[in-house]
Amino acid sequence: MKPIKKSSKLNYIGYDIRGPVTDLADQMSADGIDILKLNTGNPAPFGFNAPAEMIAELIRDIPESQGYSASKGITCAREAVANYCTERGIPGVTPNDVYTGNGVSELILMSMQALLDRGDEVLVPAPDYPLWTAAVTLAGGTPVYYHCDEKSEWNPDMADMRKQITSRTKAIVVINPNNPTGALYPKEILEQIADLAREHDLILFSDEIYDRLVMDGHIHHAMASIAPDVLTLTLNGLSKSHLIAGFRAGWMCISGDKSRAKSYIEGLTMLASMRLCSNVLAQSVLRIGLADPDTPRLLTEPGGRIYEQREFIYNAIKDIPGLSVVKPKAAFYLFPKIDAKRFNITDDEQFVVDFLREKHVLLTHGGGFHWPKPNHFRIVYLPDMEALAGLATRLREFLESYRQA
Ligand code: PLP
Repeated sequence: MKPIKKSSKLNYIGYDIRGPVTDLADQMSADGIDILKLNTGNPAPFGFNAPAEMIAELIRDIPESQGYSASKGITCAREAVANYCTERGIPGVTPNDVYTGNGVSELILMSMQALLDRGDEVLVPAPDYPLWTAAVTLAGGTPVYYHCDEKSEWNPDMADMRKQITSRTKAIVVINPNNPTGALYPKEILEQIADLAREHDLILFSDEIYDRLVMDGHIHHAMASIAPDVLTLTLNGLSKSHLIAGFRAGWMCISGDKSRAKSYIEGLTMLASMRLCSNVLAQSVLRIGLADPDTPRLLTEPGGRIYEQREFIYNAIKDIPGLSVVKPKAAFYLFPKIDAKRFNITDDEQFVVDFLREKHVLLTHGGGFHWPKPNHFRIVYLPDMEALAGLATRLREFLESYRQA
């Protein structure tokens, strides 16, 4: 009998955060080995709980949430998102410009499927949150990377971004705050991105899922507030800010010059209709999450878990011989650099496999985020201090003798 093969559409698609190294970690767990899994930004397993009010509302809403909703979502959720956009300085967003989604993930896929034809190019940051690359590729497009500069706090290298634009470029993806680097882009950079979009008639996709997990008094600027005239799709959700990754509560809103995007918006609406609607119970808590700045604020101010864990892990990692790292300003990731020469590292995936086998910690290699050199890896710093201290000790010990063959 003929083998049943995956579609060739998937040939160049990868999602290494849950990829082959994770399969190995799962196998090791099944064999009875205790693995510290730091591959996904999933707060709940590390003892983070959703606000009680949100859980109570969810339970109250069960009887009302049995049926499908309108494809874009229930009115009160979309009104809450539109109000949030206004608060964030994004003008002109009405409930009709809002689509709820089963997490931001579904909306990333939909937004690319509705837009791209074969050969269309989309500028994506390197490093990126890899679903963006996968979504562009799956939709038939070509991701073209613009460099984010570690020496400049991981901000986008604007000269490089400009250099990547061709006659096939349709859009620029901005991930701010950034996963995996924890960077938060200053207003001037966002203004330059807006200028490029205007100059070359490009759409902006701004993934702002960490917009409320910002530390040290820094301010997050919504891309669409800086580019109110440019067609911008802003994607956001409550998975991280309100610790409900499992509920799958996300949204996307369209702002800027919609007049010439009638056909694209029709395409988006058709795809939203084809998946019928997003989880109605999760939609019902959007209103509460959007009106609750305190949950993410308490986590990210001094004394809060994310803030204190960032301080701890940043200080521990930067002192390990052979590692260096830019202090993240937002989210809950660290993207350290390894001195690849010193450890003779030519394959960063092999590095995380070796570390997993020897020290029983699962990390993600930089290549999983489309970083082109084998010299980075990502740490999710959600576990408590004790686990983070254990991670730092294990990394230090491992690197004392590690040399890649
Ligand atoms: N965007 C970024 C930058 C992320 O880091 C994640 C998850 O880690 C997502 C989107 C997807 O989030 P969700 O689908 O839970 O809303």
